[in-house]
Amino acid sequence: MSNETITTVSPHVLSTLPYADNSLEPVISAKTISFHYGKHHKGYVDNLNKLIAGTEFDDMPLEKIITETANKADKTQIFNNAAQTWNHTFYWHSLKLKGGSEPSAMLKKKIEASFSTVDACKKELATAAMAQFGSGWVWLVLDGDKLKVVKTNNADLPLTKGMKPLLTIDVWEHAYYLDYQNRRADYVNAVLDKLINWDFAAKNLG
Ligand code: MN
Repeated sequence: MSNETITTVSPHVLSTLPYADNSLEPVISAKTISFHYGKHHKGYVDNLNKLIAGTEFDDMPLEKIITETANKADKTQIFNNAAQTWNHTFYWHSLKLKGGSEPSAMLKKKIEASFSTVDACKKELATAAMAQFGSGWVWLVLDGDKLKVVKTNNADLPLTKGMKPLLTIDVWEHAYYLDYQNRRADYVNAVLDKLINWDFAAKNLG
């Protein structure tokens, strides 16, 4: 899946989870996935459809709704629900069963050019995840011709900052609290070591 395939139009539908809800155990439990995907992600999609019904955003592709409503005080609700719809689809694809192994040669070379080693890149992702105060996301992005780690607050995402997202980790408490309670670092490190989908990142790199 590329970034472009998340572009859908109204009514926006909950994207299909790319694996069974128990596939990511024991790192992420089926219970977490059932709430996170079935309640939180679904809630954002349902709210978005309600908020845009009969408005200028009704027939707009999802990514256009996001860029059109970003940083507009009177469109915050639409932005938040549209961005969270997009972010979660991107997150599910950033994880996979038996992930976390070596990136492909091309991605590895790119990572090494920007971070010196794959481990240093993972460490930077983990550090950013811990440094994010409150709800948000950490991302590996392409910014110009360099790879970078960035973090965003709440629903915000790299698309509004001219950067191309390659992968993301959800660091909202709902992503890990049932399994890890307050131990965000344990969740993030387990995701990086066992689930992170470098193939998805390589595909997004193009
Ligand atoms: Mn989430």
